[in-house]
Amino acid sequence: MTVKIDGKAVAASIRAELKVEADRIKKEKGDEICLAVVLVGDNPASHVYVRLKEKACHEAGFISVQHTLPKEISMEELLSLIERLNNDPKVNGILVQLPLPAHLDESKVLDRIDVDKDVDGFHPLNVGLLSQKLAKLMPCTPAGCVELLDRYHIPIEGSHAVIVGRSNIVGKPVAVMLIHRNATVTICHSRSKNLAQITSQADILVAAIGKPNFITRDMVKEGAAVIDVGTTKVGNNIVGDVDYANVYDKAGWITPVPGGVGPMTIAMLMYNTMMAYKIQRKLLV
Ligand code: NAP
Repeated sequence: MTVKIDGKAVAASIRAELKVEADRIKKEKGDEICLAVVLVGDNPASHVYVRLKEKACHEAGFISVQHTLPKEISMEELLSLIERLNNDPKVNGILVQLPLPAHLDESKVLDRIDVDKDVDGFHPLNVGLLSQKLAKLMPCTPAGCVELLDRYHIPIEGSHAVIVGRSNIVGKPVAVMLIHRNATVTICHSRSKNLAQITSQADILVAAIGKPNFITRDMVKEGAAVIDVGTTKVGNNIVGDVDYANVYDKAGWITPVPGGVGPMTIAMLMYNTMMAYKIQRKLLV
């Protein structure tokens, strides 16, 4: 029987676990875990994401400080805010909501975030540490995928994991994380040949493509764990990369969209903010 992976419920458990820890830290050390969120401009989707992150902070017992800046802000002004947040000992994590307006250089902005406050895990140093299995702050969506596999006790070691998508924010880091967990990993992309033949060998299939219903029933191995990262707006709905209705009963486990990987991304952001606090207070061994 297929198991539907409930990302919403797992994310709620993670926030609850973090709240217990945050409350204990506040009581014992007087510290409050704080995430600073920088939002530039008036992109409606970005405003929605920032509100969700604020809500998650509240539920995890963290403080969320929002810096909303006009879309015309200069690079210098934005970098000077990042610098202030880097130097503020009360701020544990810094998140710059993407995309930024076109005149702002995203990679320059992200590179300026203190590597120990980089809760998105996008700083080149953290990317390098991840590839060496030394990262403490890992990108949230890939970490959320692996956490779902773990919480559902899906075997990773020795499995064949096929990742469709090779982006820096999802495909590549999830592949690296699964290699570190001793999976045999195949990465596919738009130039891959015989895609269905490869995906249908996967014990774990991660779809991070951005094409609605792209992964069809014939592309999935019987009993596979299917993790759908894709989110594409189709009319008023958010649609995943996997043809969920037709793949469902062939899979062993499957994430729905919405309610699968999406909520985990924000939960792992909270996890990283706690981790950043511990790094800064030298509480990690
Ligand atoms: P991206 O940067 O556009 O990368 C998409 C990847 O899919 C690329 O590597 C591309 O290959 C590959 N691809 C495109 N068409 C393909 C095809 N026909 N066959 C095989 N591979 C193909 O996207 P992303 O940022 O990784 O995001 C992927 C999806 O996940 C999007 O829907 C995004 O909205 C969603 N997402 C969700 C969350 C969440 O929290 N749930 C977070 C991040 C992203 P090439 O490299 O060859 O172009």
